[in-house]
Amino acid sequence: MKFTHESLPQRVIFDAYAAADHVSAEVERLGATRPMLISTGTSIELAGAVRHTEVVMHVPVEVAGRARVAAIEQGVDILVAVGGGSTTGLAKAVALTTGLPIIAVPTTYAGSEATAVWGLTEGGRKTTGTDPRVLPRAIVYDASLTLSLPVPLSVASGLNALAHCVDSLWAPRADPINRAFALEGVRALNVGLPRVFDAPSDVEGRENVLYGAYLAAVAFASAGSGLHHKICHVLGGMFALPHAATHAIVLPYVTALNEFAAPALATAFEAPTAVEGLLRLKNRLDAPRSLRELGLREADLPAAVDAVLAAVPEKNPAPVDGARLTALLRNAWSGGDPR
Ligand code: NAD
Repeated sequence: MKFTHESLPQRVIFDAYAAADHVSAEVERLGATRPMLISTGTSIELAGAVRHTEVVMHVPVEVAGRARVAAIEQGVDILVAVGGGSTTGLAKAVALTTGLPIIAVPTTYAGSEATAVWGLTEGGRKTTGTDPRVLPRAIVYDASLTLSLPVPLSVASGLNALAHCVDSLWAPRADPINRAFALEGVRALNVGLPRVFDAPSDVEGRENVLYGAYLAAVAFASAGSGLHHKICHVLGGMFALPHAATHAIVLPYVTALNEFAAPALATAFEAPTAVEGLLRLKNRLDAPRSLRELGLREADLPAAVDAVLAAVPEKNPAPVDGARLTALLRNAWSGGDPR
């Protein structure tokens, strides 16, 4: 065994229906007295907090600039982000320049709260970076806050987390520790997502998905992007395909290629093979099946193959050449059996 693993320093609290109490306790523990509560819609009551409600997807620099000015002018000493990845993203943008600590209270399954990655957009272009200052000091997971997340969004976000787990198993910095997180994430999501789909107001199902989403984010931030994410990144960038649906479609095909190198994945799915487990879960959730149904044209496939070939991770378990990638993408395009 030979590896170097870095764990990120964070306090993680799970407790449904108790976010406000835990956040107040964390603010005190961190020695702060003037929190800025960043949220839209779903939120919590926090005594004495300055409220900031201007949150925009992908954090435009102007929006970040206004939040930074507000935090400084109001003498804020801690940021409390209650919301999805966009809300956490805004808090991270403020922390990046002010150094203010963040407490994150996630209300979706995006997972930004468990990473030190920030993102900002300017003139339609997104810049990302990694900085320890943007890593929330504490995460308070309260599954009751996700009960209002619509089922389609919950499924899309949960399948995205599943893709993070699966791809982590063969990503460039995969190691036994992030693999353990990833496999436990698969197990939790495989149990939780059908429950959320069938009974969206069942808090236990929501809790499973939230827990799986946390594990997914930790595993992925540690292991890096594997072949699956490289393919989806190319497809999303070149053909403007919807992010979550593209992930849900491509994942079984990459899994079929690489699962020989991750035998524990089938066990995590409680299935004879990982692909079978994944297809069973996708069918249960009525997830999209082919790139064709997203509007990708067959004639676009050769350009996609060329772009992916240039980005194939060095350590991908199965050798990947043009012919293999063409077969994979053709199959994903038509929605064929990945096996
Ligand atoms: P989001 O935060 O934009 O939320 C999606 C929609 O759901 C919004 O309209 C929001 O108001 C609504 N919503 C959120 N919680 C709700 C709830 N509980 N009930 C009802 N509605 C609710 O989207 P997201 O998917 O959470 O995050 C996506 C963003 O996060 C992207 O910008 C992505 O790049 C970023 N992200 C960053 C990282 C990172 O590590 N930096 C990781 C994952 C995602």
